[in-house]
Amino acid sequence: MLLQVNQVSKWYGKAIGLQDVSFEVERGEIIGIVGESGSGKSTLLRLIAGLDDATTGEIYFEGQQIEGRSQRLIAGHKAIKLVQQDFQLMPRHKINENIGYYLRHLTNPDYEKAIDNYLIRFELEACANKLPAELSGGQQQRTALAVALAASPELLLLDEPFSHLDMRLKHSIKQSLLEELQENATTAIIVTHDIYDALALTNRIVIMQEGQVIRIDTAQNIYQNPENEYVARLFGNTNILPITLFKNIFTAQQLATLPSSKVCVRAENWLIHTQHLQSGFVLEIEQEHFMGFYYEVIGKIKGHKEKISVITQKSITERLVYLTVEFENILPLR
Ligand code: ADP
Ligand code: MG
Repeated sequence: MLLQVNQVSKWYGKAIGLQDVSFEVERGEIIGIVGESGSGKSTLLRLIAGLDDATTGEIYFEGQQIEGRSQRLIAGHKAIKLVQQDFQLMPRHKINENIGYYLRHLTNPDYEKAIDNYLIRFELEACANKLPAELSGGQQQRTALAVALAASPELLLLDEPFSHLDMRLKHSIKQSLLEELQENATTAIIVTHDIYDALALTNRIVIMQEGQVIRIDTAQNIYQNPENEYVARLFGNTNILPITLFKNIFTAQQLATLPSSKVCVRAENWLIHTQHLQSGFVLEIEQEHFMGFYYEVIGKIKGHKEKISVITQKSITERLVYLTVEFENILPLR
């Protein structure tokens, strides 16, 4: 076990930051921490990094308790590197010097070669001789990632590491990051409010809500069985609907197996028909958005107030369509 977080709580005066958080991370794992803004993600990372004090509970790294800020002369743990949301670059040093800081043990040409490697991997070649203040947010963010990786930490903690990157860069930087982590067998915890950022990168996802860990599971399990509304809504294109809506489609026995009065239907799981059906919804289409390789259709169920999102491969030309859904795609919510 590389990291063990044991019933950690953090109070900010009377406000709760974290509440009784426990989980473990094995060496080499890449963990995602996902939750809405204010759910305690950054607080948790700062405690793991030893940059703050827990109110109660302990954190162990390689079996040794991590000391909080108040217990150390210099806050932080040598083998743990945290990239915070404000990047914390050295403002008077150029980008290549920032990246080179943790590579000082190397001599030339190895030192320059190592810096160049990071500049290329994180698409920063044009920034090498600039100061942090001369860079865009996205360039600073990539520099911070490169600096942290150059430190060769055993545990890398990343707080919203893609928040300033556009879609193309995000895709390419994720790939570079994953390659770096795998090449060095680095353990990582990646915090994000966007669950889609966590899907491709992480083995397990820790879901946080109001300072608590409410679920730890694989991305696939979370998507296929979100179990509650908060988790279901972390993914876009989600329909949360009352069970009563389905009483013409499914039998009372089927509906009786559901644990609460609401269910989740993923937008891609609707079956669209152009013929009238006895058991189905009539969808009055209000909008259709072209999304590249799919269309998102927004409509209202005739006779009800609920709006529904439907994903389809083909554009719908009708004003009305008929929708059905397989019972296995009715995801129960507690
Ligand atoms: P997240 O990173 O998930 O957005 P944070 O860990 O930053 O959430 O914050 C969790 C909660 O703790 C929030 O309610 C926030 O307002 C509060 N909080 C965080 N840092 C402080 C602080 N230094 N002082 C007081 N409250 C704080
Ligand atoms: Mg945060």
